[in-house]
Amino acid sequence: MRDGAGVPAAVFFDLDDTIFDHALTCRDALGALRRERSLFQRRSLDELATEYSRLLEAVHPEVLAGRWDADDARRVRFERLAAFCGSTLSRAGATDLSQQYRRHYQSRRRLVPGARRLLEQLHGRTIIGIVTNNESAEQREKLAYLGVTHLVDHLVVSEEVGVGKPDPRIFETALGRAGVSAKETVMVGDSWANDVVGAREAGIGAVWFNRFAADPPEALAVPEIRSFRSPRSTEAVLFREASRPRGRSA
Ligand SMILES: [Mg+2]
Repeated sequence: MRDGAGVPAAVFFDLDDTIFDHALTCRDALGALRRERSLFQRRSLDELATEYSRLLEAVHPEVLAGRWDADDARRVRFERLAAFCGSTLSRAGATDLSQQYRRHYQSRRRLVPGARRLLEQLHGRTIIGIVTNNESAEQREKLAYLGVTHLVDHLVVSEEVGVGKPDPRIFETALGRAGVSAKETVMVGDSWANDVVGAREAGIGAVWFNRFAADPPEALAVPEIRSFRSPRSTEAVLFREASRPRGRSA
């Protein structure tokens, strides 16, 4: 504990769906597209959002592995989303649709409610790191667009490190950049496998950001936070977890 008041040396955050509100940005963008393109009106917005989220999960590993670039992945998602609505699109048609979606998405990006206040409250008292699986340019631009770059001390992106969460090496890189040890650090993120299990495997305390009140996928005693709307109580959960005695894979 760096300042003796229970403040950990570092707090690491995931970015997508922890600081950046990908889920609601995505839903808004799909809603806008649905109003403009009748093929999507064959499905409800809930159905589209659920299927799109599933497609994102299905396609993302291909991008991380370097088999597809981001544009390929976007086109394939829209070919499959159109198929889900009973339509077959040409490559050009799917590309056009993905670009239309992308414009809506980019202009609707917002922070998870309470995230800015939490970052502002922690800034200067502890080292703030973001550990994220994605492309560097995209994540840097996203932080700038959201106006929080100045609140983040270290942005550690899988593309730069060469491995992604849950590989312990990305957490070790983040610890090295911050100049802190695992036992004085806490990680918070929405992904059970990447953020919770990954951090713990690296010896870092973990808090699950369980915004949509999902059931924990395994029986593991992990503190959880359902919203950042109260930065004081969020901070209390993070600091308590950071100070909990633990071994390398507690
Ligand atoms: Mg996430």
